[in-house]
Amino acid sequence: MLGAIEAGGTKFVCAVSDGELNIIERISFSTGNPLETLHKVFDFFDAYKDLKSIGIGSFGPIDINKESPKYGYILSTPKLSWRNFDFLGEMKAHYNMPIGWTTDVNVACLGEYEVGSAMDDHSCIYLTIGTGIGGGAIINGSFVEGFGHTEMGHIIVKPHPEDDFKGWCPYHGDCLEGLANGPSIEERYSIKAQDLEPNHKIWKIISYYIAQALVNYSLTLRPEKIILGGGIMKQDHILELIKKEFVILLGDYIEIPPIDQYIVGPALGDNAGIIGGLILAKQNL
Ligand code: ADP
Ligand code: ZN
Repeated sequence: MLGAIEAGGTKFVCAVSDGELNIIERISFSTGNPLETLHKVFDFFDAYKDLKSIGIGSFGPIDINKESPKYGYILSTPKLSWRNFDFLGEMKAHYNMPIGWTTDVNVACLGEYEVGSAMDDHSCIYLTIGTGIGGGAIINGSFVEGFGHTEMGHIIVKPHPEDDFKGWCPYHGDCLEGLANGPSIEERYSIKAQDLEPNHKIWKIISYYIAQALVNYSLTLRPEKIILGGGIMKQDHILELIKKEFVILLGDYIEIPPIDQYIVGPALGDNAGIIGGLILAKQNL
């Protein structure tokens, strides 16, 4: 039996499955302070005596560097009670089994890579565009990581000529996340992103920023597929806008797969993360 935790800043999802990833039970609860949240996690998994392995995909930034003294910790999150919390250590103290540890976007990437949109590819990127923007990449079965995990949301983009918004990121102001996440849209217009008309000019502006990011990822990582998820992508119409801007910006410089197969939505929908967590658990057995 396998377990997975999709640990988000807003909500936690926990699930257990059989060895073939068939989900047996799943729960979701809002993220409270670390210890009360972990108690709910323990209550859920403790009922499954056959549990053999757990995979965690966590909000971050997190320390994934096995040589670091803070390996397994949540790092400089704006959620203060979670800052410097030894998430993996607390899990290991409670469960004597393999526990996989990576970012929320990496597990979503893994889910899509193994059984979703990229199941026939050897490489892919998963980008979420929601409250934050973050991405994970897999090449030949391994996560792209080094000193730390990727931070694809905080790359620098050039401003859209019709956008004078200063940006929202507390660290960089007008990085990709600061200009194109959900809160940046709400800050510009004082209205929820989901309440703006599909023909509102903001969607072209957001698509321009996302397309720039995808050009940069394409040039630096050369993936076979890019999967776009997160709340903003619930506006289905922007996928076409992003592809259009992407083609213009890339300018025929490199060969990529046919555009409709290259930039796609998640086949697993909102389940990409939890399924990826189960796969991570299985890989660690
Ligand atoms: P989170 O990033 O918090 O895990 P989401 O990926 O759902 O969760 O992102 C939430 C953000 O996505 C919110 O800022 C909201 O503005 C935006 N969002 C959610 N649903 C929609 C929608 N249907 N259309 C446009 N924006 C949306
Ligand atoms: Zn930033």
